[in-house]
Amino acid sequence: MQKQAVILYGPPGSGKGTQAELLQRRYGFVHFDTGHFLENLVHSPGASRDPVLRREQKNFDTGKLNTPSWVLKMVAEETKKIAIAGYSIVFSGSPRTLYEGFGEKGKGGLYATFIKYYGKRNLHPVWLNIRPQTTLKRNSTRKICSVCGLPKLGKAKVNHCPFCEGPLYVRTLDDPKIIKERLKEYRGRTYPVLREFEKRGIDVKKVNGEPAPYKVFASVVKVLKLAPLRLKK
Ligand SMILES: [Zn+2]
Repeated sequence: MQKQAVILYGPPGSGKGTQAELLQRRYGFVHFDTGHFLENLVHSPGASRDPVLRREQKNFDTGKLNTPSWVLKMVAEETKKIAIAGYSIVFSGSPRTLYEGFGEKGKGGLYATFIKYYGKRNLHPVWLNIRPQTTLKRNSTRKICSVCGLPKLGKAKVNHCPFCEGPLYVRTLDDPKIIKERLKEYRGRTYPVLREFEKRGIDVKKVNGEPAPYKVFASVVKVLKLAPLRLKK
């Protein structure tokens, strides 16, 4: 099996993070969560001695966008390391912009890194498709563990994490008004990126994200042509 670079796209609530986590647990992919990566980077020991990291830490902590050229450089370097170490990689929701994906004037970007280190035929954007009302429903019932960060889905009135029993909270990002904004932003940003992949001859694989996560996972496994999932009984 050749190593693969998988990029999961989908509106808020489509389960990108869950599917990436499943690929990591079940098939040994490295789940590259750009948000977490940047957060760890700007808060790494010694970051305060580096003027660039200090600037980006300030951006991060005040909720401003990190400098796109800096983000691209850091993510590309890390992707290269993971590829050289021989791991398949899965991104959840990034590259989000044409610039991140394809660089200045369509040259460079993460696309160039993927092509160089994974090869065109091993690059797989996967689009988890759900209806807007599913986004609204899922996000309004979603809680996150304040300790381990795992999401708790579903309607049950559970206030403690099933994994570590930490207290759960509702993210401000999941407020219905904010979700509508995020949906709009998602469409505006993501469609051009998906179209650009297609223009370059990369097949964007569509997966129905409506069923339960493990069923969606079986579809993801199938479109990626991984060894079929066997459930233990
Ligand atoms: Zn927890």
